[in-house]
Amino acid sequence: MRNTAIGLASGAVLGSGCQPTQTETQVSEIDPNRKYRWNMVTTWPPNFPIIGEGCERFAEWINQMSGGRLQIRVYGGGELIPPLEAFDAVSTGTAQLAHGSAYYWAGKIPAAQFFASVPFGMNAQQVNAWILKGGGLELWREIYEDFDLVPFLAGNTIAQMGGWFNREINSISDLKGLKMRIPGLGSRVFEKAGGSAVLSAGSEIYTNLERGVIDATEWIGPYHDYLMGFHKIAKYYYSPGWHEAGTALELIINKSIYDELSPDLQEIIASAAGRLNQEMMAEMEVKNSEYLELIRSEAEVEIRKFPDEVLEVLKAKTSEIIREMTSNDPLSARVYESFRKFKEINKPWSDLTERVFYTEIA
Ligand code: CA
Repeated sequence: MRNTAIGLASGAVLGSGCQPTQTETQVSEIDPNRKYRWNMVTTWPPNFPIIGEGCERFAEWINQMSGGRLQIRVYGGGELIPPLEAFDAVSTGTAQLAHGSAYYWAGKIPAAQFFASVPFGMNAQQVNAWILKGGGLELWREIYEDFDLVPFLAGNTIAQMGGWFNREINSISDLKGLKMRIPGLGSRVFEKAGGSAVLSAGSEIYTNLERGVIDATEWIGPYHDYLMGFHKIAKYYYSPGWHEAGTALELIINKSIYDELSPDLQEIIASAAGRLNQEMMAEMEVKNSEYLELIRSEAEVEIRKFPDEVLEVLKAKTSEIIREMTSNDPLSARVYESFRKFKEINKPWSDLTERVFYTEIA
């Protein structure tokens, strides 16, 4: 395997010698000893557990692998630029790269949401499969190229929880007028089902829930939720996170800057993004397991599952929202078609194996 790879690589170099024009010029323009110092902005609060911490490790891996040729300084949201300006900052080259999630750019590119999370969409394993090997990445790259960006899959929250509620949810009518902090496409579905979606910054959620400004909030999963303290002020903790079954996180790099890198540095970045994706999912799984237990043992909160009837209605409303989205926006229609096709092909296989494992064997 190794010999073949080296053989191919040297073959390519030799090949360029026979055609002394473009390739040779390109090779000579890349200085293998050039050092880069990059700024990485993120949409996360500084030192955000697992996710922000993962970005710090990502920078360290790249520093190590490149022998110090590529040094990246990571900034939390608001430290260099406001969190939701990360896309524009990298697109214009103000920062070289960013970590966030594609659904933050829904205002600019509605179709980007499919590369993050769609209610009743896919879990982390399926999202990985669709993006990395099922056609998603090619579409994602094509769409971001218009913004001079290269996207990489670089993390996943894995399945989230449905959220913290101070009202019981027994039927869909219990959602009527319910004020819940819920972002993204999930918020539109929630409103279609009769709820009232409230957008509040992470720092305000606890106080809003405590004071009854909101009746409910979603966040991530047991680990991050516990750190927010919601178990101290909410009566019910509902599952599942129907709106975020496996939210993908992204790394975006300014494409013009990325294209000028030597191929080894480009591979180092791709490898580090892959490792970040893998490690983040593993860490989420471990921490959520531990902290769910902690919430069960420490808090008086009741952990419940949404009634099937409620989930059925939310699912039907999701289809309506997606229909509206895809009929108004050809790009969303194109991405959704790829997403939907993969999901359809994957379902019989997944039902035969994963689903049986979880529901009948485990
Ligand atoms: Ca969430």
